[in-house]
Amino acid sequence: MSDVSLAQLKADIVEVGRRLYARAFVASNDGNITIRIAEDRLLTTPKNVSKGFMTPDIMVIVDMDGKKVAGTSDASSELKMHLEVYRQRPDVKAVVHAHPALATGFAVAGIPLDRAVLAEVICTLGSIPIAQYATPSTQELPNAVRQYIKAHDGLLLANHGALTVGADVFAAYYKMETIEHFAKISLTARLLGGERLISQEEVLRLQSLRGLYGIAAPAPICLDDDVSGGGGGVIDATCQVVRSPDAPGTRLVPDPASGVAFGGRDRVPGDDEEIRLTYRELAALIEDAVQKLR
Ligand SMILES: [Zn+2]
Repeated sequence: MSDVSLAQLKADIVEVGRRLYARAFVASNDGNITIRIAEDRLLTTPKNVSKGFMTPDIMVIVDMDGKKVAGTSDASSELKMHLEVYRQRPDVKAVVHAHPALATGFAVAGIPLDRAVLAEVICTLGSIPIAQYATPSTQELPNAVRQYIKAHDGLLLANHGALTVGADVFAAYYKMETIEHFAKISLTARLLGGERLISQEEVLRLQSLRGLYGIAAPAPICLDDDVSGGGGGVIDATCQVVRSPDAPGTRLVPDPASGVAFGGRDRVPGDDEEIRLTYRELAALIEDAVQKLR
């Protein structure tokens, strides 16, 4: 790594920090940014600085154990989480962590951004699951992130924020923009009555277009909801769950007449899972219940 390119990478972190702050993806001293500058070296933002007003000279270099190699400040307090990502993903060269308000709202509500809603999200990030809550700066956080990071380039962190990775720091930053934009659109659609989902057939077609925009998701979309696709548990996700009806015109919600959900698979919604019914479906359910009573 020549001094010139190291200087450029420091400048890139300053620029990404400025954008995170300008777009209010962070408040106060929130967030952190790292770049892998060599096999065993990371460039990181220091602890306790606003990402909006950094200068290249404050950056810190650490080894892959998190030990400081160069720099006057202490390294970011979330360094353990970044180190875990680099350990799990040799292809990743940069990691961005921030607290964008709308995406973090989904993370706080416990709602993953995994519905088939936007073609560009399916083509690029795929789904954005939620890593379970962990105390910031402790080993719990890397452990929570490990479950999903092999199969996803973007994660929500429960009751905390979001994490994105990329082949360079701008790629990681742009994924943070995409997640927040996706969260904003998802929230708006839900306020307006709920998303109309893209069918599974179309989701698979979009998957075949991955890479077209220069960004490809790190894992395929799970065709079966039951596989270790990141639905929870302790198994590491190896594919991405994208919620979509499996035939055109099939509804995501259960058909009240058959009780069959997801257009064929017998999937019973969880206790706390939201389902939507049209007035006619609701009326049919009530009528059915009344018939049974008679
Ligand atoms: Zn944070």
